[in-house]
Amino acid sequence: MKLHDKTFEPFLSKEEIANRVAELGKQITQDYTNKELYIVVVLNGAFMFASDLVKHIQLTSDMSFIKVSSYQGTETTGIVRDLIGLEGDVNGKDILLIEDIVDTGGTLSHLLKMFGDRGAKSIAIASLLFKKEAYQKEHAIDYVGFEIPNKFVVGYGLDYDGLGRNIPEILKLNEN
Ligand code: 5GP
Repeated sequence: MKLHDKTFEPFLSKEEIANRVAELGKQITQDYTNKELYIVVVLNGAFMFASDLVKHIQLTSDMSFIKVSSYQGTETTGIVRDLIGLEGDVNGKDILLIEDIVDTGGTLSHLLKMFGDRGAKSIAIASLLFKKEAYQKEHAIDYVGFEIPNKFVVGYGLDYDGLGRNIPEILKLNEN
């Protein structure tokens, strides 16, 4: 498949994603039994993952959406901008941050600091994808869908310069 100037090839199928997302939801439900969750979805990329994941989280949950951006094209800029800030009070709450992908971890540390400063009781991270080799931080990623190599991917919410978010599977950049 071609998006802008680049071609992408199949990487994770719809079925693989659906199965793993269901497992994660079940795990989160078990881990938070008898607790209330405050779910924060990190837009834009996590919208599709979050929409599927929360259907498998059988807990009373509040949900909120924030938007951050650090990427331009296929490269991280290293600068995280808050595009839509957090509404609502997270003080004393158990937070589950839903991310599409953790790469260097820059976005994540920015968010962890923001939620820590606001008095969150606990913060867990659910990320569909994790580029372990690229990760430069210490904080563990609590719920990882798939550990993937350090390659650029699109689909299932993730874009390449605006395109590809609606693709129901995950594709990776063809570097040949
Ligand atoms: P980090 O701050 O961890 O370096 O990068 C996290 C953000 O970069 C993700 O939320 C995502 O928006 C973007 N990102 C990182 N790797 C990829 C990738 O392979 N494909 C796409 N489409 N976005 C990525």
